[in-house]
Amino acid sequence: MRLFGTNGVRGVVGRDMTPEFATRLGRAIGIFFNGCVAIASDARNSGPMIKNATASGIMSSGVDVIDLGITPTPSMQYYVRTHNLSGGVMITASHNPPEFNGIKCVGPSGRELTRDDEEKIESLFSEGAECVRWDSVGALTYDASATESYVGAIIARTDVSVIRSAKLTVVMDCANGASFGSAPMLLEKLGVKVITMNTRVCKIPSHPSEPTEDNLSDLISKVKETNADLGIAHDGDADRAMFVADDGKFVGGDKSLSVMAKYILSKKSGIVVTPVSSSSMVDDVVNENGGTVIRTAVGSPTVARVMLENDAIFGGEENGGMIFAEHQLCRDGAMAAAKMMECIAKNGPLSKQLSSLPSYHTEKRKTDCPDAVKEKLLEHLAAVYKDVKTDRTDGLKMIYGDGWVLARPSGTEPKFRIYSESKDKDVAVRRANEAEAKAKQFLESFN
Ligand code: MG
Repeated sequence: MRLFGTNGVRGVVGRDMTPEFATRLGRAIGIFFNGCVAIASDARNSGPMIKNATASGIMSSGVDVIDLGITPTPSMQYYVRTHNLSGGVMITASHNPPEFNGIKCVGPSGRELTRDDEEKIESLFSEGAECVRWDSVGALTYDASATESYVGAIIARTDVSVIRSAKLTVVMDCANGASFGSAPMLLEKLGVKVITMNTRVCKIPSHPSEPTEDNLSDLISKVKETNADLGIAHDGDADRAMFVADDGKFVGGDKSLSVMAKYILSKKSGIVVTPVSSSSMVDDVVNENGGTVIRTAVGSPTVARVMLENDAIFGGEENGGMIFAEHQLCRDGAMAAAKMMECIAKNGPLSKQLSSLPSYHTEKRKTDCPDAVKEKLLEHLAAVYKDVKTDRTDGLKMIYGDGWVLARPSGTEPKFRIYSESKDKDVAVRRANEAEAKAKQFLESFN
């Protein structure tokens, strides 16, 4: 039975994500780890219910649990690694709407489990083990120190004095999520003038927690109104960060990734890892600055694994997920925020840094596609585009002299995505239209 998607087990609370389900999965997780496990949640109102049920399941397998309370996913990951635990569990549905929640597991290194390990948990879940005898039940302890030590670890890897002397004004949007405590704490310790937004824990967040331009209109207005140097937005579990520049413009994830890659490479040369879906802007910037790019399949666990295998210095995705090898091999929203402030303090206004990036146009399309048809559509497109140079790292990437098109089934929903990029907007749009029309034509034959 497949339970884990690309980022843990997700479901609608009360429908598929119930306390009964969480307890049963928790028991399977406990048997799998077979040693002390940390558990934390984001700020969703169903967090305590799902977290306590999962913790009960883990203890019912005879394994001890440390409850860290509400803290960002990367904070839980840092705790697991630095306390030599057997694993960690995060109760979060990241950027999904408030009716969702999820259960995500990390190993002793703090990195996400491999698919093989998830399959082991799935088969333990299907086997449905019994609760252990009364004298073997695991213990529960609480540790409220995770957030503070996580923030401390970021401070230790940040040039605090250069940020302090730049006297930055920063607007911080916590999306009513897990960063409500850690983000203001970090900014205060970095000595910036901080204006916080959406730090309240509530049932319905003030805006959807996916940090897109549309969802961040209040942050954009606040940056303009206060003449701030930077706006920062985290998603619900704060493993990602998106930015608004000093001119009040939303910064696309490819651009913030490129600015950061350039900054990291200015201190140390090395390998930068990013999925096939990121802009060619990343290659341009990395190559220009003496680094090497390795492209992977989409998904931060894959980026982290390839970083480890190649001793890379930095990695990231176009959705605001950044991984700093010097800190930990997982996406880290607070580290991304701290490094962006350091980069601005050293290299000047973000708007100016962005203006020196090469410009690309990316067209993104999304079409409905039943899960069962995804692979057939992909093979159909591979046949249609057989005369074009292609890359099959993830989905199907058609590579042209002046751009590329990526056709890829979504890993989380019944959709099929098409990305088309070129320096010439007309070319990008034309190729996106063509690929979309070919996909739709094929899909119609199934209706
Ligand atoms: Mg997230």
